[in-house]
Amino acid sequence: MDILKERLLKEATVLNSDVLKVDSLLNHGVDPVLTMEMGKEFARRFAEEKVTKVVTVESSGIPVAFATALELKVPLVFARRKKTLLNEADAYTVRVPSFTKGIVTDLIVSRHLLSREDSALFIDDIIANGDAARGMIRIIEQSGARLAGIGIVLEKSFQAGGKALRELGYRVESLVRIRSLEDNRIAFED
Ligand code: 5GP
Repeated sequence: MDILKERLLKEATVLNSDVLKVDSLLNHGVDPVLTMEMGKEFARRFAEEKVTKVVTVESSGIPVAFATALELKVPLVFARRKKTLLNEADAYTVRVPSFTKGIVTDLIVSRHLLSREDSALFIDDIIANGDAARGMIRIIEQSGARLAGIGIVLEKSFQAGGKALRELGYRVESLVRIRSLEDNRIAFED
């Protein structure tokens, strides 16, 4: 998506050679028009997969996952990140490290929101080491649903997540792939 590359060059900040700050588009603010374009692109790429639910992780994955779900005309389910005493017994739960927060968090999805009848498309904002994606794959497995695929807005391909998941046989579609953040600049693949 060239338009997304252009916006990243204008608006994202390289924090260090590992981390990109994308506050205005992904992590703190949302451009609804651009986000709908992302959703349309994911819906197009996964059109043949008979998706019944789009799943994501709160909070940064929600806008683009919503846009995708709207295009596919299916419900959206987002994993919550905290343990709440209320829903634990009735929920699928996994523990994953958080790349940006440097802590471990629980991902929780209520059992009634995902089942073996579902074909789930996982959408997220950024992939780094792939821990969030692996966590959601485990949740989808716990539910008995089929994983229809993985759609990521921004893949940092110099980190292992996307490649490792593809090697495991999962279909990972990224809208933009970044090969390096060295020297304070964004270098795209291709
Ligand atoms: P992973 O679990 O793949 O290591 O990291 C994925 C999660 O960490 C994403 O959902 C994203 O919110 C956050 N993340 C990873 N790398 C970056 C980054 O460079 N910038 C920002 N803003 N978030 C990131």
